[in-house]
Amino acid sequence: MPFELPALPYANNALEPHFDAETMEIHHDKHHAAYVTNLNNAIAATASLSEKTIEELCVNAGKNSPVIRNNGGGHYNHSMFWKLLKPNGGGAPTGKLGEDIVSTFGDFAKFKEEFAKAAVSRFGSGWAWLVVAEGKLAITSTPNQDNPIMDVAEVKGAPVLCLDVWEHAYYLKYQNKRADYINAFWNLVNWDEANVLYAAAK
Ligand code: MN
Repeated sequence: MPFELPALPYANNALEPHFDAETMEIHHDKHHAAYVTNLNNAIAATASLSEKTIEELCVNAGKNSPVIRNNGGGHYNHSMFWKLLKPNGGGAPTGKLGEDIVSTFGDFAKFKEEFAKAAVSRFGSGWAWLVVAEGKLAITSTPNQDNPIMDVAEVKGAPVLCLDVWEHAYYLKYQNKRADYINAFWNLVNWDEANVLYAAAK
């Protein structure tokens, strides 16, 4: 099988009380696992795609079948999302990314406000993103399991930070209160990992 479900880099309950253990378990062991299984099944049926990386599949999402677009995006997005969270994370962004968030958005509070607006206003299921687009930091959102490296993305860029706003990411603990889940996210952000992505994106 070409793609594998990566292990969570922490225990299911490590992000408590912000993201609860049961949500993390189902989200990773069922939802992400299903994207990987469905992607592998679709790849197995399409010989020309058997050697492609997950990035290559996403970049050409518009040319591939919807099954590969949706499940390939699901695998790419969740693999990135888990690493952008950590126990005792959050706080103000550090490093070069911290400096550039302040110079781009005014201050960290203003950045959080704009990112949360993108996350809360994404209708239905999708993701909020901080990306580097045309050399600059920008906030965007995508529907379903699309992402900003896809050819079909409205705003294309290299991801630096992402937040899953599908109901499966928060409904057990937060029910319909997506804004509360977004607030909780700020306690978990792994800014070291975001800086790694930012350095690679520029
Ligand atoms: Mn998800």
